[in-house]
Amino acid sequence: MPGNVSYAPSADGAARVAYRQASRLSTLRGETMGTTWSVRLPGDAPALPGLVSALEHTLDDYVAQVSHWRPDSLLSRFNRAEPGSAHVLPDAFAAVIEAAIAIARETDGAFDPSLGALVDLWGFGAGERLDHPPAAEAIDAARPATGWRRLRFDAVTRTLVQAGGVRLDLSGIAKGHAVDLLGARLSDLGLRDHLVEIGGELRASGNRPDGRPWRVAVQGVGADAPPTGITIALRDQAVATSGDYLRYFDHDGQRYAHTIDPRDGRPVDSGIASVTVVHADCLHADALATALTVMGADEGFSYAERRGLAALFLLRDPIDPRHPRREVIRVKPTPAFLTLSSHE
Ligand code: AMP
Ligand code: MG
Repeated sequence: MPGNVSYAPSADGAARVAYRQASRLSTLRGETMGTTWSVRLPGDAPALPGLVSALEHTLDDYVAQVSHWRPDSLLSRFNRAEPGSAHVLPDAFAAVIEAAIAIARETDGAFDPSLGALVDLWGFGAGERLDHPPAAEAIDAARPATGWRRLRFDAVTRTLVQAGGVRLDLSGIAKGHAVDLLGARLSDLGLRDHLVEIGGELRASGNRPDGRPWRVAVQGVGADAPPTGITIALRDQAVATSGDYLRYFDHDGQRYAHTIDPRDGRPVDSGIASVTVVHADCLHADALATALTVMGADEGFSYAERRGLAALFLLRDPIDPRHPRREVIRVKPTPAFLTLSSHE
């Protein structure tokens, strides 16, 4: 694949990573986390009794723990809890918070699971959507409640302490983690060959029915965009995408998308249309895609290169300074990404 491929983007719309067709596949589908899930398996999966309910149970159990959309979830209860209160977390919640804090540390806070107050303030949380930025004073008032360094988690006792007013938001990592949990459930049931997907985040295990690796195609930016023509062969790997076209509002000619820069409490404006990350597990692919979006086109790309991450950046390049919306999408893969992908 050439290092620089440009094509015109479409209007907005959700378009992420799509499946390649493969023969003799069963597909199971459902809804979770405000989006859809699907599982692809070789052979005749519907013949397996109880499979869908086993998968739904895994998802429901996870959502009941970590959803910040549900007022009765454990996470929402933690967010409302008294300062100083200690909370012993169930397995999945403990695993995701431990990983989230480690990734926050590794990315110097670009990924931050404690931004709930700001995410809500900007209208990207469970409350009402906005069509304009909040007042600067409101942003300043929300910021002291955020910051991953305020999270006190003891991995041995699985205890998380509420420092006071901290609102967790795991939307940047939870879909990926849930993909991993579904994959683990399938493997436990002896179904080693599978492709799991939730809202565009995917994980492949084993092979397709034809014995070849699962392949996914990276779609363009927006529903009507021409395909990028890039496909990735996944060998027991996961892929996740963060994009500025997935949740945003426009105000005064400026786009405000759902990824918050913890350094200033405002949506990032980094010229990144999307970042796709391939990783051994989907939790890391998901969180790192969010982190690279925060770091921006230059810093994020060099971070990914230094760490040997397989990442694909789709960058918005203006073609006419007088018309900021006239742009081309530049495709920028890291060297590690190039080894996994092909271009048609
Ligand atoms: P994703 O689509 O995985 O990039 O996740 C984006 C979501 O993660 C947003 O809608 C927020 O709920 C949350 N979020 C926003 N900014 C950050 C950040 N800097 N670190 C972690 N999560 C974030
Ligand atoms: Mg993410």
